[in-house]
Amino acid sequence: PLFSQLGLSEPIMRAIAEMGYEHPTPIQATAIPVVLQGRDVLGVAQTGTGKTASFTLPMLERLAGSRARARMPRSLILEPTRELALQVAENFSLYGKFLRLNHALLIGGESMADQRAVLNQGVDVLIATPGRLIDLFERGGLLLNQTRLLVIDEADRMLDMGFIPDIERIVSLLPKERQTLFFSATMAPEIRKLADAFLNFPEEITV
Ligand code: AMP
Repeated sequence: PLFSQLGLSEPIMRAIAEMGYEHPTPIQATAIPVVLQGRDVLGVAQTGTGKTASFTLPMLERLAGSRARARMPRSLILEPTRELALQVAENFSLYGKFLRLNHALLIGGESMADQRAVLNQGVDVLIATPGRLIDLFERGGLLLNQTRLLVIDEADRMLDMGFIPDIERIVSLLPKERQTLFFSATMAPEIRKLADAFLNFPEEITV
């Protein structure tokens, strides 16, 4: 398969070319068109499979194609650790370098005041760990009622780290009508139950 067959537009294709990627990985080839159609995804994939681009690239495409009137978080990516959140933010910047979209990185160990200031300026995408997102929400000023694209990444690690109640709470703050992309390296029964609760007729992709 070729990237040019997946439905991505020129600014994103240019960023991919600059990265030196020649072909989409299997999860990218399958997930990108599905996400662009607006469908939910249940992805069973490890890191190293190109999973990050499989949700970041179509997310950028969808956001770029629907300009919001005011900058409100329209997408949320949840990661279990600060390190993973940082990596996703770096990917987001690289793949989105020819687009005018911005993001906030909301992770522990950094100044809450700085993160609130960034939020007040208006952001398109939030990349967050669950605990910090809830802390910021509780302090007010974080509106999630326009957040219609949600990524839950590394769900199995979220489970191991005890983040499921936080995630359930966060999901309850988002619009019911939304697109959800759920990734996990394994599909244990507990993970399957969560996926069933959060996803709506997902396309199941195993790589
Ligand atoms: P990930 O599984 O998202 O952690 O990605 C693993 C690594 O593969 C990262 O360093 C990416 O930059 C790289 N990568 C992702 N997609 C591609 C691709 N289509 N071709 C070559 N490298 C890629």
